[in-house]
Amino acid sequence: MNFSGWMNYHAHIDKGFLPPPHLYKDAPAPVRAEWTREAKMLMSKEEIKLAANKALEKMHYYGTTYVRTHVDVDPLFELRAMEALLEVKKEWESRVVVDLIAFNQEGFDRYPETEVLLCEALMMGADGIGGHTSMDQDGKKHIDKIFKLAEGKKLDWIEFHTDETGRPDDFNLPYLAQVTKEQELGEKVTAIHCCSLANVEEVDAMKTIEAIAESGMRVTTCPTAIATRALTRVKDLAHAGVRIQLGSDNLRDYFNPLGSGNMLQYGQLLAYVQRFYEPNEVNQIIDWLKEKPNNERVQHELNRLTNTLTYSDFSNKDLLAETPRPQSLNTNLISK
Ligand SMILES: [Zn+2]
Repeated sequence: MNFSGWMNYHAHIDKGFLPPPHLYKDAPAPVRAEWTREAKMLMSKEEIKLAANKALEKMHYYGTTYVRTHVDVDPLFELRAMEALLEVKKEWESRVVVDLIAFNQEGFDRYPETEVLLCEALMMGADGIGGHTSMDQDGKKHIDKIFKLAEGKKLDWIEFHTDETGRPDDFNLPYLAQVTKEQELGEKVTAIHCCSLANVEEVDAMKTIEAIAESGMRVTTCPTAIATRALTRVKDLAHAGVRIQLGSDNLRDYFNPLGSGNMLQYGQLLAYVQRFYEPNEVNQIIDWLKEKPNNERVQHELNRLTNTLTYSDFSNKDLLAETPRPQSLNTNLISK
């Protein structure tokens, strides 16, 4: 099989590969979030670049050619991560297409000044904006604010970490689908995680899945989240016609001390957890990992990479079972 590379639809390459003394310790999630905030405050622009480069090296080694990464924008990182990642994006442009999402990780409640910083990050050249519906008291207000910030800007992506807690009372997905439909934003909008969908009443879940399909927005699942909560209802979403994307999410930090950057491994994990075992289901996961974003700019940038990625003698089942790296990987930039 020759192909142009795997697609990683969700990552946080600005704050992974944390160096000592930031060693993983099991503690409640809010404690680990606090450690992450401390680490962010201390990280210099150069250290952020180093972290991002380490993540991209892994992803590239395993044949990934598209990475959509969230970049924290808040009073802790200020705009350092954005500055760092814009440089990293440029440095990698001949090998990997990197899309940057200016991300409100910490919420508006905790740090109201994030709003101004996000505006600046968008002007600096972010490809999209990202919110986190579980971070503020009022998830709907949070969603409204992010859409408002996106208004009138030339952004390709509007993304939300959505209902990441998995709690049935933390369920903003129906509202996100409603606003996406009303504003006719379609596949520009992505809902990431959607864990609560797995835990709400059946009738609410099915109604919501229908609304997502109607809105045209996409859903990204990050299989490593299974370590702490249920994954979203991937098969039901797919059956309803919702486009599914996969992401590596965090690598080597206080939330995931492991993480290879090998997209086939994330696909394999999803296959095990939700039993994508039948031949057509195995093929489905491989197709999701290969499917490029439906966006002219990104496709143009991907076409400029001349990748020779081959997996001779590997069937889709072999790929998902063995998660090999490509046998050859030559990437050259075609002249602009
Ligand atoms: Zn994430």
